[in-house]
Amino acid sequence: MNSHFTNIYKNMGICDNVAAFGEEAVQELKERFERIDETAQINQLKVIHAMQKNKVSAASFNQSSGYGYDDYGRDTLEKVYADCFHTEDALVRPQITCGTHALALALLSNLRPGDELLSASGKPYDTLEEVIGIRPSQGSLAEYGITYRQVNLCPDGNFDYAGIKNAIHDNTKMVTIQRSKGYQARPTLSVEKIGELIAFVKNIRPDIICMVDNCYGEFVQLCEPSDFGADMTVGSLIKNPGGGLAPIGGYIAGTKTCVENAAYRLTSPGLGKEVGASLGVMQTFYQGLFQAPVVTAGALKGAVFAANLYEKLGFTVVPNGCEPRYDIIQAVTLGSKERLLAFCEGIQAAAPVDSYVTPEPWDMPGYDSKVIMAAGAFVQGSSIELSADGPLKEPYNVYFQGGLTWYHAKYGILMSLQKLYERNLVKLG
Ligand SMILES: *Cc1c(COP(=O)(O)O)cnc(C)c1O
Repeated sequence: MNSHFTNIYKNMGICDNVAAFGEEAVQELKERFERIDETAQINQLKVIHAMQKNKVSAASFNQSSGYGYDDYGRDTLEKVYADCFHTEDALVRPQITCGTHALALALLSNLRPGDELLSASGKPYDTLEEVIGIRPSQGSLAEYGITYRQVNLCPDGNFDYAGIKNAIHDNTKMVTIQRSKGYQARPTLSVEKIGELIAFVKNIRPDIICMVDNCYGEFVQLCEPSDFGADMTVGSLIKNPGGGLAPIGGYIAGTKTCVENAAYRLTSPGLGKEVGASLGVMQTFYQGLFQAPVVTAGALKGAVFAANLYEKLGFTVVPNGCEPRYDIIQAVTLGSKERLLAFCEGIQAAAPVDSYVTPEPWDMPGYDSKVIMAAGAFVQGSSIELSADGPLKEPYNVYFQGGLTWYHAKYGILMSLQKLYERNLVKLG
């Protein structure tokens, strides 16, 4: 290995054995990384094209306050998003506080009392249980008389087409599909697979709204669910599409009617998209979107690297070292509490921010065991930045994601291995 590497790694806490083991894994990934770069390149051009087409200019970054009428930058950004996602319209706002809020907004604005929501990908992301009312909660869809049905994925991870067909009734208004596995043990769905389901649903009843929770999926593939007929594609700006720069925000890209409904709910009937001051965040939204394809590629390389590194050491990793990727999340089954703690300490120690703190397990609300989390982020809670977490219970899975650059992701993962190695919790090769 190059001596510059050895020296700087040694300076930064990575011993020669760990550095060499990591380098060996990287060498084997060259072709894989080339393909990731190719996807990033095409997505980068897609974003630039949308910006050029909509004449993004310095004026787009001006800030508005108060009502935010005629906010040129905000309105132009929404056109840019609509062009990137190939949709009629988009709602992209700092007033959308997070991914859950964007999804709740899409649901609450497009469903009416008496309608039914059908989840075709099984149990939705934890926070949506309260939005839907699967767990009783104030303001849920259930409180408004919107019913819910769920069809689980088949054991092999595919859609249960017969079950879905059976579950569609006259009052089925919307089908929701979650692309990323989140923290479940099922595979993430490819955009193509989601597209097949949308075609199937539309064939049964073309007026059913198909919504996709696109969190963690943006720019991982060349297409987005909206390219395959999704009426709404929804996500968070402190994940992939914010490129690590957006300090807040969410988006809904979709049909004119769906986006309009969401806007009337976000602000007010009658006002819709016309109001909503951008308060000076527009430049970060534009620049973040511009960076997003490359940032996503870096996070993806980190996930692939970690999968291969830990697989070589005999751990179970999901996805495994060679399967295709449809999101940026990586899980590693570490098998012991000591390893889980060491892993997270390594991720924390490698962060550009808060590297000097030691993550401690805590009783997080809504969990039945303590949870440990490691993150040292520029934007608080941002999970496009390198972060790791896991519940302190069997089988001691760690979930990690992000990395604003591949080099940081790589360093973080090497540092996790270093901590395991130092404590004799793993043997190299
Ligand atoms: C992160 C995530 C959400 C919720 O986003 P928050 O910003 O944490 O509210 C919803 N669905 C999936 C699949 C996610 O990964």
